[in-house]
This record gives sequence, C-alpha cells and structure tokens, in this order.
Amino acid sequence: MTVHIHPYVDNGVKQGSGHFAGGTLVCKCHDRPVKVAVKGDVAHNHACGCTKCWKPSGATFSVIAVVPRQNVTVLENGDKLKIVDPSAVIQRYACTGCGTHMYGRIENTGHPFYGLDFIHPELFQEQGSAAPAFAAFVSSVIESGVKPEQMGEIRARLKELGLEPYDCLSPALMDAIATHVAKAKAA
Ligand SMILES: [Zn+2]
Ligand SMILES: [Zn+2]
Repeated sequence: MTVHIHPYVDNGVKQGSGHFAGGTLVCKCHDRPVKVAVKGDVAHNHACGCTKCWKPSGATFSVIAVVPRQNVTVLENGDKLKIVDPSAVIQRYACTGCGTHMYGRIENTGHPFYGLDFIHPELFQEQGSAAPAFAAFVSSVIESGVKPEQMGEIRARLKELGLEPYDCLSPALMDAIATHVAKAKAA
C-alpha cells in the first residue's frame, strides 16, 4: 500500500531554486480564479497534519509556508474571498468558488507569528519556491480519519521524503514561540 502524503511531495520533495523572487498563487476555479501576488521566497515550508489547514482532495497533509504579510497582495477576483472562521487565530481567506485557502492572516499583534501570512506554495504558478523541510502536527491526521495503526507507515514515509515528523511544530518554531512568550513575560 502506498502512503499518500500530498501530491506536491508524493513523487519526492523538489528542492527550491534558492533564488525564488516570488510569484502568483492561483485558486482552482476555471472561471474568474482568485490570484494573489507574493513577493520573495517562502519560509518554514512544511507539511501540516492539523485539521484547519486547507489540503487538496486525497491529501493527508497540507503543505504550508509563511511570508511577511506586507509581501502579500490580492491581484484579481478578491471579491470571491471570504474568511473561513472569523473567530480563529489565523483568518484564513478562502475562495468561495472552489474552497481553496489563498492566505491566512493573524490580526492579534501579540501573537508570536504576527506579521506573517500563511500560504500554500503548491498554488504558485511558478516553480522554485523553497521546499517543505519537515512535517508538523503529524499525530493530528488521526483527527481527519487516518487510523492510528497507519501512523508508523506515515511517519516512515515522511522520514523517507526528508520531512522529519513532529507532533507539534519544528524545534526551531517551538523555540521561537517560547522566546516570544519569555520576552512578553519579562516586559
Ligand atoms: Zn476558486
Ligand atoms: Zn495546519
């Protein structure tokens, strides 16, 4: 049995060019697709197993990365965008036509990731953005219907792809959050 992680990585992780200058994210609509411009390369690209991140049909994980929010501009058909859950920490702007999440934004200025927007690099019409480098919230795929006994196979496949599996975020991101909390407490 083949384990499907995500179409973007199932045939092997394609490394980024190292000099991606940015591109355009395009939703799945044939009619009036939403287009969002992103300046510069993405950071912290990873596979995510949580239940909130958008994933294409058949994918077990999403592929998600961050970019500075000032680098994100809606280019076309922004009238089709709607926030999925206005009460969520991350305001995910989804296309009302096809359901694709175009970007997620944090409006709470005290949040450790304030200033960063969450995007799905697979939606770039250009090639070469930084590749996914780890897998986050791996155990959470069970909440989306994966059987617990499949987890060994899934973790093994992630490792084979070079996507180290973590059940929260990567150590670098967990350290960044803790640093933010520590500084906020000291202030
Ligand atoms: Zn759409
Ligand atoms: Zn997620």
